[in-house]
Amino acid sequence: MANLIQIYEPGETPLPHADTAAIGIDLGTTHSVVSIASDGVAEPIHDAHGRAVIPSMVHYSGGGAVVGHAAKFAYREGESDVIASVKRLMGKSAADVETVAGHIAYEMAEGEGLVRLKVDGKQVTPVEVSAEILSHLRGIAADALGRDVARAVITVPAYFDDAARAATKDAARIAGLEVLRLINEPTAAALAYGLDQKQDGIFAIYDFGGGTFDVSILKLENGVFQVLATAGDTKLGGDDIDHAIAALMLEKVDIAPAPAELGELLALCRLAKERLSTAETAAVTWRGAHIDLDGGMLEQLAAPLVDRTLACCASALQDAKLNAEAIDGVVLVGGSTRIALVKREVARFFASKPYDSLDPDLVVALGAALQAEALTKGGDHLLLDVIALSLGLETMGGIVEKLIHRNTPIPCAVSQEFTTYQDGQTAMKINVVQGEREKTDDCRSLAAFTLSGIPPMAAGAARIQVTFSIDADGLLTVSAKELVSGAVQQIEVNPSYGLAFEEIERMVSAGMKHARGDILERLLIEARVDAERVIMDVGSAIKADEALLKPGELAMIDGQIARLKTAIAGENRERIDHEVHQLNAIVGPFAQRRMDKAINSALSGRSVDDVNNDN
Ligand code: ADP
Ligand code: MG
Repeated sequence: MANLIQIYEPGETPLPHADTAAIGIDLGTTHSVVSIASDGVAEPIHDAHGRAVIPSMVHYSGGGAVVGHAAKFAYREGESDVIASVKRLMGKSAADVETVAGHIAYEMAEGEGLVRLKVDGKQVTPVEVSAEILSHLRGIAADALGRDVARAVITVPAYFDDAARAATKDAARIAGLEVLRLINEPTAAALAYGLDQKQDGIFAIYDFGGGTFDVSILKLENGVFQVLATAGDTKLGGDDIDHAIAALMLEKVDIAPAPAELGELLALCRLAKERLSTAETAAVTWRGAHIDLDGGMLEQLAAPLVDRTLACCASALQDAKLNAEAIDGVVLVGGSTRIALVKREVARFFASKPYDSLDPDLVVALGAALQAEALTKGGDHLLLDVIALSLGLETMGGIVEKLIHRNTPIPCAVSQEFTTYQDGQTAMKINVVQGEREKTDDCRSLAAFTLSGIPPMAAGAARIQVTFSIDADGLLTVSAKELVSGAVQQIEVNPSYGLAFEEIERMVSAGMKHARGDILERLLIEARVDAERVIMDVGSAIKADEALLKPGELAMIDGQIARLKTAIAGENRERIDHEVHQLNAIVGPFAQRRMDKAINSALSGRSVDDVNNDN
């Protein structure tokens, strides 16, 4: 086709170069991250040096301001007029500041009203400082993307009050960003893991950062998150571990360090702590004093802090009037959740394996970017525009196989392959059903058609691909295709046609009422299969690395496997899950040693400096 020049409707010409995309920004206390999503996949945006995690620091000097790594460098060099942790002051009045002053190293201006900070011979507000950080992030995005993006979703802590939220919006406006929406950090983390795509559920978001700990209990209903409770401690974080290591070092030297020297020691302690995620030991050497840290020492130092985080979790659960068993999943956020002890203890407390596959430093920004994309594409409706009842088809024994689950946002399309049941079968009836129950008789049949022309084959040899697609107007098209012969049948159905709203409600609640009995059996079978797999995995790990076992460990593992096998033979799914968790906990240290070994062998051949430079 020829390259035609496009002409807009009069008066509707978009601004030249204006970009319709939007970025996601995690505006953090110590670090910030900017990210962008396309087609539902979010990526962090890196600066020119390949760094995605940008220090939330601003250095004011010579009438100007530098932000991020340059400001952090200036701070390390002992420059004054570097502002850090300004997020703690957002929306706060001078009178409020008592509560946060402990963490603020710079000078406040005297006076009433909102906080003002004295830097470089002038006064700035926390809003202005945040605006500098946001402009910097916007610039990083523009450089990386090759175009300016002026719209954003920005995250804020769930506990931020109206004043702090308004202050964040003002900062964005000063930075020239249009805020599509402020979303809660825990919600963003949940979005990053696609939890909004699930059925309803209750999730805990455990955010253990450098200076703060936050936990939120979220309820997901119809694709919309609601914060049930939050708890936290604004003076509890990974920094405390650095201080504890530094204290061990200071016992060994006689000098009282100057603030800058202490900063240098703390930075060394932090590096050593972080290295322990990938190495057996890490040394700290400073002013002639020396410590060899190992995982056990780190866990000893971290244990009391982790206990305090769990106490916060307990109080959040209490506020939400829930117990730990009600939690369907836990998401880990924040750099300190890389510590193995933290993962273990969180898993134990909530009795579920945490979501930890995404980088805990990036997860909030990634979720923000996904929300930004959703808002630019589908407008506000996106989270709400979902199918009201599940759609599936009838399989052997009158059982429903759901292809599209209730609350799936539309438009959407799902394909699944099926096969024949009998030798020589040449036709197949496709019965499209709607509803939440597991049996066809309890659901509503929307349409049925026959796929004929299947070449006669042995049972199970034919491959029939069935596709359900729903367009933005809610129209369902079902097609079936035999992949060997290419035979195709297709039909269009309108799933909600003829169903009144009350009827949908009734079918959903009927599904809920019966769902338990229907699916318990499925879940039990799945739990058994999973447990067998865990036993197999542990067996092959022991076979591969028996030398890494500590005395007595093998006997403990064998004992637990025996208990798990007894549970598998029984009917109690919770018991199976519990014994699997126990087994994982017992095997944990051994698995960690195996991982360390693998990492060490991957690292050998590189000099220590190479490794350090990665930090
Ligand atoms: P914040 O949200 O408070 O800005 P972050 O989420 O960026 O904090 O987390 C920073 C903290 O995570 C620091 O204390 C840092 O030392 C810690 N951290 C990062 N990586 C690791 C690691 N591998 N092991 C232990 N702690 C880590
Ligand atoms: Mg954070």
